Amino acid sequence: MTAETIRRTQGRGRLFNSILDTVGDTPVIRINNLAPEGVRLYVKAEFFNPAASVKDRLALNIIEAAERAGTLKPGQTVVEATSGNTGIGLAMVCAQKGYPLVVTMADSFSVERRRLMRMLGAKVVLTPRAEKGMGMYKKAVELAEKHGWFLARQFETSANADIHEATTAREIINDFAGDRLDYVVTGFGTGGTVAGLARVLRKERPETKIVLSEPENAALIASGVAQKRGAEGAPAASHPAFEPHPIQGWTPDFIPLVLQEVLDSGGYDGLRPVAGAEGIAWAQKLAAREGILTGISGGSSFAIAMQIAERAEAGAVILAMLPDTGERYLSTPLFADIPEEMDDEERALSESTPGYRMAAE
Ligand code: PMP
Repeated sequence: MTAETIRRTQGRGRLFNSILDTVGDTPVIRINNLAPEGVRLYVKAEFFNPAASVKDRLALNIIEAAERAGTLKPGQTVVEATSGNTGIGLAMVCAQKGYPLVVTMADSFSVERRRLMRMLGAKVVLTPRAEKGMGMYKKAVELAEKHGWFLARQFETSANADIHEATTAREIINDFAGDRLDYVVTGFGTGGTVAGLARVLRKERPETKIVLSEPENAALIASGVAQKRGAEGAPAASHPAFEPHPIQGWTPDFIPLVLQEVLDSGGYDGLRPVAGAEGIAWAQKLAAREGILTGISGGSSFAIAMQIAERAEAGAVILAMLPDTGERYLSTPLFADIPEEMDDEERALSESTPGYRMAAE
């Protein structure tokens, strides 16, 4: 396309019956300004999902798989422990399908998340941050048992990796058909994304290296310490290598059963630690230099993708997953150094013309 040609659009060629039909089919987008010379760097922008994260996929499939299996009855309350995006996705799905939803969440996660879930009609029950992920998880189990609710179990259910196998991975296969794909970079929360990708890429693109990333100060997999499990593969104890980290949505304080499949089957080729501050810095650069607004986990995967890109052979093609939107982090360290008031440069611009100036403070 040349600058002389106006951009045109055609619509999607269909009418959507429900917001739920807009989940998935997110675009893979080239990085132009930040990528080193000689390699092609892409991101898969999961914030194009209707509730703006990768977890819309899993939320929809957990509910529809349970409907198909008959384990979720019409009008039954759904309950889940979630660091936010699964709750937001479930709230969207439950609003559309008419199920009441109760979410348990540690009070350390961003305020935007709570308010978004409540906006979408869910009830949010906060748990003490000192009790970490296990606390919110156990609260959800207690509530489900006491009230006879449907527990979504994102950390154990097969509906999680299955939907990434059926959608996320297929989209990548189709979008890179006939092209190189040397590396895919992702972190993990439940491990659903990487498990789904590994199932498909290992078979259909065995040359593609799957690089898994985890927070430097919560390197559970790198520690080599096995997760203690109870009934149905649920975690029985907090993992000893866990420390609180700023990469919301990544690495809970246990190794989820959904991720265990990847560890047991050799579903990844490399494991790289990333510091939260690095992830934040790269999310800020993606916004300011590429116009791509993603959260801290997206910035963290991108940080690793940049490390790989800088050392990769000429012609290499690298894809990083961007799980959600940066707008979900206005109250967090991602925006901490983004000011609300005018800085000196903006004030000087204001004063460079006579009209409409703000009164000096
Ligand atoms: N980033 C964010 C912001 C998330 O909310 C999640 C899901 N918890 C992930 C990454 C990880 O995705 P998955 O659960 O598929 O491993």
